[in-house]
Amino acid sequence: MTAEYDLKSTVRTIPDYPKPGIKFRDITTLLGDARAFRRAVDELVQPWAGSKIDKIAGIEARGFILGGALAHQVSAGFVPIRKRGKLPHTTVRIAYSLEYGVDEMEMHVDAIHPGERVILVDDLIATGGTAEGAVKLLRQIGANVVAACFIVDLPELGGAAKLRAMDVAVRTLMS
Ligand code: 5GP
Repeated sequence: MTAEYDLKSTVRTIPDYPKPGIKFRDITTLLGDARAFRRAVDELVQPWAGSKIDKIAGIEARGFILGGALAHQVSAGFVPIRKRGKLPHTTVRIAYSLEYGVDEMEMHVDAIHPGERVILVDDLIATGGTAEGAVKLLRQIGANVVAACFIVDLPELGGAAKLRAMDVAVRTLMS
């Protein structure tokens, strides 16, 4: 049994959620499994062990759970990227495309100092619209986006390729 298989078996698939015909990859089962959660955190940032990372930026909401743990792991700060209207201080905002329509995400304008080395994290990458928006927002305030990490990649939707085309290293643990 490979490590990948081990971890993969802790992600649950929910048919017809949130809509008929959609297979939702539910990572709460991975998070609830102590060994799997630790392994996922270790493996997500393994390529950057020993290199200086200033901030982990997590995308609301599941990116927050992983992001806090990753920040601890690499001794970095944590920065939340949130849906519009949730952050109290002055923000920068960007519109990004979803499967149907657009949404907006925000960060505090002073969350990152220009040139800081940042790793972006979310639970899953599909079309890459969400992560692409987050990378643009981070770059807008001067971040050096070193990499983007996800537990699950849905490669047929092209998100990881989209980020690599933006010169962002992409780390995923299963497809
Ligand atoms: P994208 O913008 O890459 O098309 O979609 C990725 C975003 O939608 C991520 O924030 C992710 O949390 C969420 N998402 C889309 N499909 C799924 C899924 O099947 N499982 C989980 N856990 N999140 C999903």
